[in-house]
Amino acid sequence: MSAINGKVVVITGASSGIGEATARLLASQGAHVVIGARRLERLEALASAIRAEGGSAEYQQLDVTVLDQMEAIIRLAQGRFGRLDVVLSNAGVMPLSPLEALKIDEWNRMIDVNIRGVLHGIAAGLPLMKEQGFGHFINVASIGAYAVSPTAAVYCATKYAVRAITEGLRQEAGRDIRVTLVSPGVTESELAESITDDKARQLMKEYRRDAIPASAIARAIAYAIEQPADVDVNELVVRPTAQLA
Ligand code: NDP
Repeated sequence: MSAINGKVVVITGASSGIGEATARLLASQGAHVVIGARRLERLEALASAIRAEGGSAEYQQLDVTVLDQMEAIIRLAQGRFGRLDVVLSNAGVMPLSPLEALKIDEWNRMIDVNIRGVLHGIAAGLPLMKEQGFGHFINVASIGAYAVSPTAAVYCATKYAVRAITEGLRQEAGRDIRVTLVSPGVTESELAESITDDKARQLMKEYRRDAIPASAIARAIAYAIEQPADVDVNELVVRPTAQLA
């Protein structure tokens, strides 16, 4: 039986892409998935599909930029299953544009969702994990956490921040709490749909030609979770074979 069986996993940004694929995979291996995102009808449909396959899923509307809502979904998980094994902070947005376009609202949105959202996951989950004496944070960064490219300055900055925060958490969280950073390369999802800048959108279309399915990232996440409790997979970079940068 999979080591994932029975684990209680809260997933942010589970209404599409990597979050959705991970919820499906983990539930198929016996995890209790507690899924959150803003689009409630997507969550409802996903939870129904998982249950129809014999899996266990709870859902709750979640905006990761609101700490109360992050705390509420952690409470839902603990109240329903009596424990919290994993917080997968996956929610993210990527409205790319050149800095000179001054899309300041979009910069702020990326900072709020991609950085503050991950911090809220830590703030909501860490006290409970400390009390339990176990737990696992998995934060989704990007290959943009390792290199910067034109139109992606702010997005990359948020992902560098996620990488720094994750490493800091790993050092501070103590001997019983695991911390993993997962950094995807181009992956099939709805992520590029938030790009409003025409040039950046066109560039991204080209760039995303070699995208791998979201299930490839889900498998990397499952690998980190299924290791024994004394083994902490710290960083995974998963990109298409054909993607050079
Ligand atoms: P998607 O756009 O398909 O998924 C993003 C998810 O985040 C959606 O479920 C969306 O749901 C959710 N989300 C956005 N804003 C919020 C919010 N404020 N509160 C809660 N949930 C929110 O893209 P991906 O699956 O690709 O993205 C998942 C992660 O992977 C992101 O962190 C992204 O940066 C990262 N990544 C993706 C890559 C790729 O090529 N696809 C490459 C590198 C990293 P809703 O709108 O319903 O709230």
